[in-house]
Order: sequence, then C-alpha cells, then structure tokens
Amino acid sequence: VFAHVVRAPEDPILGVTVAYNKDPSPNKLNLGVGAYRTEEGKPLVLNVVRKAEHQLVNDSTRVKEYLPIVGLAEFNKQSAKLIFGADSPAILENRVTTVQCLSGTGSLRVGGEFLARHYHERIIYIPLPTWGNHPKVFSLAGLSVKTYRYYDPSTRGLDFQGLLEDLGSAPSGAIVLLHACAHNPTGVDPTLEQWDQIRKLMRSKQLLPFFDSAYQGFASGSLDADAQPVRLFVADGGELFVAQSYAKNLGLYGERVGALSIVCKNADVASRVESQLKLVIRPMYSNPPIHGASIVATVLKDRDLFNEWTIELKAMADRIISMRQQLFDALRARGTPGDWSHIIKQIGMFTFTGLNSEQVSFMTKEYHIYMTSDGRISMAGLSSRTVPHLADAIHAAVTR
Ligand code: PMP
Repeated sequence: VFAHVVRAPEDPILGVTVAYNKDPSPNKLNLGVGAYRTEEGKPLVLNVVRKAEHQLVNDSTRVKEYLPIVGLAEFNKQSAKLIFGADSPAILENRVTTVQCLSGTGSLRVGGEFLARHYHERIIYIPLPTWGNHPKVFSLAGLSVKTYRYYDPSTRGLDFQGLLEDLGSAPSGAIVLLHACAHNPTGVDPTLEQWDQIRKLMRSKQLLPFFDSAYQGFASGSLDADAQPVRLFVADGGELFVAQSYAKNLGLYGERVGALSIVCKNADVASRVESQLKLVIRPMYSNPPIHGASIVATVLKDRDLFNEWTIELKAMADRIISMRQQLFDALRARGTPGDWSHIIKQIGMFTFTGLNSEQVSFMTKEYHIYMTSDGRISMAGLSSRTVPHLADAIHAAVTR
C-alpha cells in the first residue's frame, strides 16, 4: 500500500551531515550543522551540565514520574527570568506564562499552533533569509507565511530600509518572527537603536512580535546583553511571544529542552492563555521530558553553577570570535580577492560567506568541506588546525 511513496529529499541542513558521514576523506570538515565543537573538533558537554547531572543521579528521592503538561515549574520560572531579567515588570506582574517545550523548534511549533487557534490574524512574517525550518514549522501550525526583507547581499549587512518598508506595509495585527540575537543564517543583527525603531513601528501597527531566541549568550558572550532586544519589547508593556532553546547555550542539543513564553496584558489573561496552551500540547506529545529541564533548573537556580555557566558560555563565544579573526587573517594572507570583513563583523555561530552554491559544491567536491548550499558556515565547527584548509578552499573557489 505504500508503493507510491516517493523518496523525500534530505533536510537541507541535517542532510549536510549525512553527506559528510559518507565521505571517507581524512581531511573532511563539517561546517553545516550549528553545533559547537572544541578546538579539537569534539562535541562539548559543559562542566556545569556534568555537575548538575551528577547531583541529579545522586539524588535518590528523584523519580521518573510524568511532568505536568506545561513541564517543570522551576525550569519555567528560571527560563522566564533568564530571558526577561529577574526584575522584569511582566514577571513581577504575573503577566507571563511559560511552558516547557521540545527545544526551540517545539516552542515555535506550540506557539504557532496556539496563534492559529486563538489569534485573529493568521499571517506571520519571517525574515528573508531565515532558518530553513521556520516556514515549515509555521505553515504546518496553520499560519500563512510571508517574508520581510532582512539581508542585503550587496553590503552583506542589514537591509534596514527594506525591513521597515515591508513591516510598514504588513496588515495590522500580523505576527512577525524576530531572531532575538545572532540571526541564522546571516549573522547580521540590528543595532539596539534599530531594534527600538522596529519596536516603535511594530507597536504602532499592532504587529505581534514572536522572538526566536536560540542563541542567548552566544552572540556577545553575555546572557543579559543578548536578551536586550526582547527586554526592549517587554518594557513598553505590550504582548509578545518568545521561544527559547538551550541547545546551543547549554549544549543540550539532544536533550530537546526549551520554553515558550507568552507575555500578556494581565495575569488573568496569562492564566487563560496557559490553560489553552495545555490543550495544544496534550494531544501533541502529552508532556515534555524531565531530564534536560532538570539540568537547566539545577544550573539556573544555583548561583555558583550559574556563574560557572556564564564563564563556560563566554569561552565558547570567544572561541568562535577568534575563529572569525583567524579565517579573516588567513584569507588576507592568501590575498583572496574580495572584501571579507563581514566574517569578523557578523555575529553568532554562523558566517554567511557570500559563496554561491556552485562554489560550495566545488569546495565539497575538491576539499571535502561540507556546508549548506547558501554558503553558510558554522564557525563553531572550525579550529586553528582547520582554518588554513578552509581558507585554501575559499581561495580556490573564488579564483577559479
Ligand atoms: N531557531 C533558530 C534560529 C535556530 O538556528 C535553531 C537551531 N538551529 C532553532 C530555532 C531550533 O533549535 P532546537 O530545536 O534544536 O532548539
């Protein structure tokens, strides 16, 4: 009965790793997936995560019961504090509902499903370009997806005018997806002044902000600094959505731990919204897993572990920034034609190199370097040892 099923294409991002795994070359390099690697090219489990897990396994009072539909209460409380700030007016006024979801993706999906059921406007604007999963997550949630201009290839920077024009002509009430920091794939973020202009425009048109916060702490190395755009929008008293992921900043990728927060007008609305979120979640996966959320709650509520986390997080962010400098220097040393300053200007895990899909295929074929076809490379997958190989490949690709 399934003979008619046609083979689906590989996921454009995860498929890069599938191709990489098949390549027998000893020099192969995977810069496709945005997962942090050490200078030795190994995945990293943070020390604070090991410590928290140690505490958890040694606590014999812990059981494996189901969590509530909305997840672990302490995790939700700490997650809201992390993104909004401990003294956030929205938290103090009990206007926020936070539910634990399956990492960033699951938080976006639950938020999208809630909006499709309970919000009067079905249109969501996403930046062009954006993380490839966004359009699929939101359209399958029942929203109608449109794009707003974001990136200008000629400057390799923000198309701020285009962004303001597109959001300015969006229908009143439309939802707007915003990357809280470290925009994926471009590495281009608005300045705080630009954020405030975006906020004013959005509030004046009643556009509903939906922040995707997958890289808090990874952009600047500071959790608070990276949350500033979200906090700007909270400070004006308006409503918003935030999807948080602990995949990158705590390295909990496979634990699938994240949170959806909805800031409402008052405590009563927030509690009714939460009751409806439960109806979205219950038939989808019933309730979220316990282990990852317990790790996060343990780290975030303990002052020493929290401080240690900020140091480890900063070290990851700094290593990425150092990779940017090394790659930039290596291209300069080779006299590679073109202006490569965007490599050091862009923010977060990725560099949007400007290489086209043909150049990317050449680098994969000749140099065994794997990346998405839009020319995005994960700086977190590079090391001092592999920078020269990448620089050789880029040089060859652009001088061919
Ligand atoms: N949003 C953005 C912008 C991302 O880059 C990612 C991860 N690549 C996610 C959301 C979701 O990641 P996860 O579901 O692993 O938390």
